[in-house]
Amino acid sequence: METKTIGIIGGGQLGLMIAEQARRLGVRSVALDPSAEAPAFRVTDERIVAAFDDAAALERLCRRCDAVTYEFENVPGGILEPLCAKYNIPQGYRPLYDSQDRLREKRNARDHGLPTPRFEAVDDEASLLGAVRRLGLPAVLKTRTMGYDGHGQLLLRTETDLGAARPLLSVPCILEEFVPFDFEASVVTVDDGERAVSFPVGRNIHRRGILDLSVVPAAMDDGLRARMVAESQRFMRSCGYRGILAIEYFVRGNEFLFNEMAPRPHNSGHYTIEGCTTNQFRELVRYLTGMPLEEPRLVAPTVMKNILGRDLAAAETVAREEREGLFVHLYGKRESRPDRKMGHITFVGMDLDRYRREWAGRFAE
Ligand code: AMP
Repeated sequence: METKTIGIIGGGQLGLMIAEQARRLGVRSVALDPSAEAPAFRVTDERIVAAFDDAAALERLCRRCDAVTYEFENVPGGILEPLCAKYNIPQGYRPLYDSQDRLREKRNARDHGLPTPRFEAVDDEASLLGAVRRLGLPAVLKTRTMGYDGHGQLLLRTETDLGAARPLLSVPCILEEFVPFDFEASVVTVDDGERAVSFPVGRNIHRRGILDLSVVPAAMDDGLRARMVAESQRFMRSCGYRGILAIEYFVRGNEFLFNEMAPRPHNSGHYTIEGCTTNQFRELVRYLTGMPLEEPRLVAPTVMKNILGRDLAAAETVAREEREGLFVHLYGKRESRPDRKMGHITFVGMDLDRYRREWAGRFAE
């Protein structure tokens, strides 16, 4: 059988894990990233060091590959769209376009039948005051583009916080009602147009706005869980998306509200590598190369702990202990910063209570 090659726009940890699974499936990979030290380059068969807006370099990537995907979310549409017309980028530009702007993203979710928190576009102080009047406080102000891990957002508790909102208003924003959710959860789905497979729903616990733990299965009503998965798959079909899509929800009582989505493997799905019979990266590669999708099953209750720079030394110690059921992934990033994602640890056969009793104390607060 002829060896297939996939291309990955972006060489971060997601690219690294896509390339690892490609290799296991006998698929070659090429990544494009501006940094010569990008984690994925340790594993890919070829590398292209170039900026994400370097149209000629992106074209070179596409020419070398049977199918191309992206792990970097801000590839400019002006460059990606013409490439999608010419080469096999089966997910297309649409899901990226729809997710690159929080206002467009929430409108799109609502238009395709997913409930969202109430929201309004905010462009200046006058529209902020109007939106606050209609949505009430507390509310969350977010920049429409380029926000991630809690950057570019501000919780407005009372009128006195409105002054602090001024710096954010230099760019277009969205104001959302504050949702007093019970917990956050996410669903990762891969859809090849004929069949959709979703990974078991995890509960996501954040620390300082960054994902800290994914706990699987999420302790929740089975009917609610089934509805969340079915609605995610229906939404994907309704939007005409193919490939991989991760959706984050707020869960409150017997309801779930769409928070955001990403058309790429998701941090909350890292647990699938060892916690499931097949994983999000592998199913993405299977989709890209035309292999039939496999239905994932949970191997055992699993906890995934993100390793930030502040946890790195502790994680290295844990790695040396070589414990059974415990899988330490370090991404090999050259520069460590306290809040930078440097790796993750998957604890298979672990629940949240036991994690908190036995492990939480080994990492930074
Ligand atoms: P986001 O980047 O939109 O996922 O926001 C980062 C985190 O801020 C979320 O994971 C939530 O914990 C919190 N958050 C964002 N939007 C809201 C909201 N409308 N209500 C309550 N919490 C929110």
